[in-house]
Amino acid sequence: HPVEDILDRLCATVADYPAPGVSFKDLTPVFADAEGLRAVVDAIVEPFVGHFDLIAGIEARGFLLAAAAAYATGTGVLTIRKAGKLPRETYAEEYALEYGAATLEIHTTDLAPGARVLILDDVLATGGTVGAAARLVERCGAHVVGIGVVLELPALGGRAALAGRPVHSLQRVD
Ligand code: IMP
Repeated sequence: HPVEDILDRLCATVADYPAPGVSFKDLTPVFADAEGLRAVVDAIVEPFVGHFDLIAGIEARGFLLAAAAAYATGTGVLTIRKAGKLPRETYAEEYALEYGAATLEIHTTDLAPGARVLILDDVLATGGTVGAAARLVERCGAHVVGIGVVLELPALGGRAALAGRPVHSLQRVD
């Protein structure tokens, strides 16, 4: 598949980052490549085209995908941010990290009830991040029609943590 060939060629793997024993997938060379960016954006939305009103991106790498995909599909972008960055009233959802916890937020009024939302992020690992984003969308009364990620690390069980919400990944990596 062409998008997998591009990922095989351009995605970098960084040993022991950000901690010893972790093999970090770095997609920045894919985003920096004109053909790579286009292929990834087109493929990530493909199963959901016609079924969403808005694309949510998760800070920060999800923003790149969401903005490009929204522009390409004629929809808008919803920004889901780390705690403390959004200026108006927010909903907040906490999720577990390997050590400790983190929080994502959404403006309570940026999303119309009943809106159909596609959530995008670069990597699905445990599913904690995307799961918190999905709960935020649902707290606004909107629907998560799908979750799109470039890479899925199946060993970390993210798909099972997302409670049956449809997940589309472009490549699974060990
Ligand atoms: P999760 O919450 O465990 O699913 O981790 C996913 C989040 O951590 C995403 O927002 C990713 O950007 C980031 N992440 C986890 N592993 C990697 C990786 O190998 N490369 C890039 N980002 C990663």
